[in-house]
Amino acid sequence: MSDIFGIPDRIARIKELAYDFWWSWDPEARHLFEMLDRVLWDRTHHNPVAILRDITPERLKEAVEDPSFLRYYDGVLKRFDHLHTTKKTWVNDTFPGLSEQTIAYFSAEFGLHNSLPIYSGGLGVLAGDHCKEAGEIGLPLVGIGFLYPQGYFQQRVQADGWQEAIYRPLDMNRVAIEPVKFNERGESFIQIPMGKRMIYIAAWKVQVGRACLFLMDTNIPQNEPWDRELSARLYAGDQDLRIRQEIVLGIGGVRLLRALGISPAVWHCNEGHTAFQMLERIRERVAQGENFDTAAAIIRKTTVFTTHTPVAAGHDAFPSHLVEKYFSSYWPELGLDQAKFWALGKHLEDWGEAFNMTVLALGLSKWKNAVSAQHGKVSRKMWQHLWPDVEEKDVPITSITNGIHTATWIAPELIELFRRYIAPDWAERHDDVALWERTSDIPDKVLWETRQQMKRKLLNFIRERARMAWLRDRAEPVQLLAAGTLLDPEALTIGYARRFAGYKRANLIFHDLERLKKILGNVRRPVQIIFAGKAHPADDIGKRLLQEIYNLAKDSKMAGHIVFVENYEMHVAHFLVQGVDVWLNSPRPPLEASGTSGMKAALNGVPQLSIPDGWWPEAHNGSNGWAFGGDPAPSQEEADVADANSLYEILENEVIPLYYRRDSDHVPRGWTALMKETIRTIVPQFSIRRAVKEYTSRFYAPAVNAKNAETLSRKT
Ligand SMILES: *Cc1c(COP(=O)(O)O)cnc(C)c1O
Repeated sequence: MSDIFGIPDRIARIKELAYDFWWSWDPEARHLFEMLDRVLWDRTHHNPVAILRDITPERLKEAVEDPSFLRYYDGVLKRFDHLHTTKKTWVNDTFPGLSEQTIAYFSAEFGLHNSLPIYSGGLGVLAGDHCKEAGEIGLPLVGIGFLYPQGYFQQRVQADGWQEAIYRPLDMNRVAIEPVKFNERGESFIQIPMGKRMIYIAAWKVQVGRACLFLMDTNIPQNEPWDRELSARLYAGDQDLRIRQEIVLGIGGVRLLRALGISPAVWHCNEGHTAFQMLERIRERVAQGENFDTAAAIIRKTTVFTTHTPVAAGHDAFPSHLVEKYFSSYWPELGLDQAKFWALGKHLEDWGEAFNMTVLALGLSKWKNAVSAQHGKVSRKMWQHLWPDVEEKDVPITSITNGIHTATWIAPELIELFRRYIAPDWAERHDDVALWERTSDIPDKVLWETRQQMKRKLLNFIRERARMAWLRDRAEPVQLLAAGTLLDPEALTIGYARRFAGYKRANLIFHDLERLKKILGNVRRPVQIIFAGKAHPADDIGKRLLQEIYNLAKDSKMAGHIVFVENYEMHVAHFLVQGVDVWLNSPRPPLEASGTSGMKAALNGVPQLSIPDGWWPEAHNGSNGWAFGGDPAPSQEEADVADANSLYEILENEVIPLYYRRDSDHVPRGWTALMKETIRTIVPQFSIRRAVKEYTSRFYAPAVNAKNAETLSRKT
């Protein structure tokens, strides 16, 4: 980081803070940047690096002359240094020695913060949450991914409801990333094979508390123009681009780690996109004289693979001509011929035989998991054909249910409330189930008023964005209605936000428009629904779904009760999961592998109204939210009808009456009891801390032990 910031010496280390995403989940560090410049804090959507770029010398001078600011600064730095140096961690207490090892975590996307738009949805946010938590519990994790210089697209919805995808080049000076130098000569790139050619990759380092990430980038002058474009965008382009991206991620990722002198003990592959790394690790051993089978048996023992979706199209598969094009010079290096190489990923897709990345990954990893108990079952069934001699229940794919990074997703208002009523150090112990028994000590009125305040914050945020759309994009008046300017702070507010994929059925609630209109328009008990989400740029079904909902949001017959918030990403997600009253989830079962947005809502006291799919069957106990529909039906159409009717019935008979049943002081005590039960049962269990501890105990630590035992026996 250069000194062009012009930061006074007294607070010089504020740059270090800005360049460590730790600030993004530490409430005091966040407050420090907010105190530094409140206007820039809002304008930059909470981006400390951008704040330091834009801040005026006068404001900096004021800050260093303000004793209370300096005291606060010193306090934050003290905790920052403690985090980076302390030996007292869960990993050191539980698995001594593990902290000297490195866990490599490969993922095509990482959702750390909105200032680094290299994620598209739940998969990326999960990877980001996993890295944040790893550092917190003392797990030495190094993430490997991509810097997409144009990121994932920003969404603009045209007046006719059609989604426009806008790509903006990332300004590297305004993001907390630093270029990597590979040696003393200051070289900033390495070479990797791409088919029969070589290409160059550069890397950026991202500090995430005690964990760090290395993001690869091909946009450097050494490359041909088409290779420079290779890493430009996340999930854009055809199969040819996709396989090249995955070659960079997998093969390039291993070479990057070697160039950095890092030797991971365990290699975690998040989703099949990353699976070429397994081949590269085998190639390294074959180059040293081992045969393929021996090398594969060895790398398998230290490889973790997590599969993330039961949707067939969600598993990358490449046709033979592409595999031939990029691997015909590679398979001899593995000691394989074409047929044996093909067999590693061979799978029958709808469109013919292909090289399937999940098949490859399942074959070359010992530790395999799905992301919820139900997804485990579905995955064992889905992949049973790969283990023809094994009964379905014994297919070696287990499950570790996803979780969320509590500190990232909780509202500031609730941090305070929990400090007062749960425990001053609740954040450090939040995965302790017993701790949350104290939820009942929170006074109903306090909880209710806090939640109302969080909701007003959401509505202010939405109105402010509508105002900006009016100013900047010359939106049409009816678009401001659709954007939520008429939202009512007193009305029961349902939130629905996630990617617009067909199986997620965003439009299920519109199945019977007349019935819905009655529900929304009830004068005494009004209901409003806020939607948000992006459709994949190549997914016309998703885009049409979005258009349908957007047009309803513009329709005056809906009276402003349907709202669509543009450009869903982590910043918007924070306001939504914290601000609405109910979180709606209506996927077509069993296609939701886990889902995590409902966990974020629950953490903030927002009960979920969901199909019993993904994580929900594990969490729902009958009194911490609602499960609707999901019963088997003869056809998809009939299932949609039944699910929609079940949704209306629960809304009409349970959700709405409970919300509007108020005591004389206007507090809905039935509802506050529900909020408390939601928090009590979900916060400790569906935290990513529980999940990362599970990965550590069940996969990482045993994998390291197996590896060590092997090295020992080879020595003796
Ligand atoms: C949490 C999150 C998701 C995942 O939502 P699901 O309901 O699990 O699909 C997607 N996008 C963003 C921006 C998120 O924060």
